[in-house]
Amino acid sequence: MDKSGSTFTEDLQSFEFPLAELHAHLTAAIHPALYWKIAHNQGFKLPKQHYNDFYKHIALSVEKKTTMKEYFDTVYHPLLNKLSSGTFAVEEAVYEILSGAYRVNNITVIELRTNPMKHNFNGEVDLDNVIMAMLRGMERALLEYSELSAGIIFCLDRQFTYKNNEIIVDKAIKYRKRGVVAIDFANYDTGKFKFKDYVKLVDKARDAGLKITTHTGETNDTNDMWDAINYANPLRIGHGIKAAYDKALMKEISKRGIVLEVCPISNISTTAVKDVEELKFILRTFINNNVKFCINSDWPAIIKEAHLRRQLQFLRDQNILSDEEIAQCTKISFESTFIPGKGLAAYL
Ligand SMILES: [Zn+2]
Repeated sequence: MDKSGSTFTEDLQSFEFPLAELHAHLTAAIHPALYWKIAHNQGFKLPKQHYNDFYKHIALSVEKKTTMKEYFDTVYHPLLNKLSSGTFAVEEAVYEILSGAYRVNNITVIELRTNPMKHNFNGEVDLDNVIMAMLRGMERALLEYSELSAGIIFCLDRQFTYKNNEIIVDKAIKYRKRGVVAIDFANYDTGKFKFKDYVKLVDKARDAGLKITTHTGETNDTNDMWDAINYANPLRIGHGIKAAYDKALMKEISKRGIVLEVCPISNISTTAVKDVEELKFILRTFINNNVKFCINSDWPAIIKEAHLRRQLQFLRDQNILSDEEIAQCTKISFESTFIPGKGLAAYL
C-alpha cells in the first residue's frame, strides 16, 4: 500500500502521537515473557517446558483464532488467571503493563481492567492485599513516568453470584480515591445473568462516584445491549459491535452519547467478527449512524501484533478508517477516559 503523503501514518510509526487505551484486560496485557518469569519465580508447574512452546500455547493471532469461550475455558481462566494471582504477580504485572504501554506505544492514558477476585487464588489470598498490590504497581509506574495517567476498572462477572459481585462493587467504592475509577461487567453468561437484577448495585457504584462501562454486543445479541443500556445506563460499552445490525439501537446509543470501546484485532482473533470485511462494515455503519467509538486493544499482549498503535495501523492499512477518522477515534479516547486527573495527582 502506498503510504506516501500521510503525515498521520508517519506520526503513527514515529510514535510521536500520544494514545489513550480505554479497554485492556490485566490478564491479557501481561507479556508471555512476564508470565514465564512470574511462573518460575513462584515455582508454578507449567503445561509446557520450553518458552517457545508456552508462547505458542497461550498466544492468539488473526491467523490462530479461537472462540472467546474456548480460550476462556482452556487458557485464560485456568492458566493465565492463576499465574497472575497473588500480590507479587499482580504488582509486577500492573507496573510492567502501564510503564511498558507508555515506553513502547506512547500511551499516556491507560485504563486497565480486571476482576480482583480472579487474582486471589479463590480466596486464599486476602482480597484487599491483592487490590493494594495492584494500586502499588500503578503508583510505581505513575511515579516513574510522569507523562502517564492511569486508572483501574473492576470487572464484575456474569457468572458470579450477586453476592460476590456486590463485594467487588464495595471494594471499588472503598478504593475509588486510590485509583479504581469504574466498574464493568465481563465474561460470557451461562443464561442466568440479567442486567435487570443489577440496577441497585450499579446505582450504588454510580452514586459513589464510579463510572460505568459494560461488555456487551461482542458475542451476545442486541437484546443484551438494550438491557445494558436500559438497566445499567453506561457511559461506555465494551465492544458493542453487534449494534451495527440494529438501527434503533444505534440511534439510542448516539442519542445518549455512549462511546463504544471497539477492539478490532481481538474481535477477529476470537471470531466475534468474521473477517476484515465484516469489521469494515461495522465501523463504516457506526460512522454513518453517528455512533461514537474509540479503538482499543482488549488483549494487547496475548494476541500477536495487537498493541494499540498496531491496531490503528491495521485499520488504516485495510482501508477501514481514514487518517482523519483515526485521529478522531484517538480524540474520542482522550475525551472519554474515566481517569479523574493527570498522573499521580489524580489520586493524591
Ligand atoms: Zn474486553
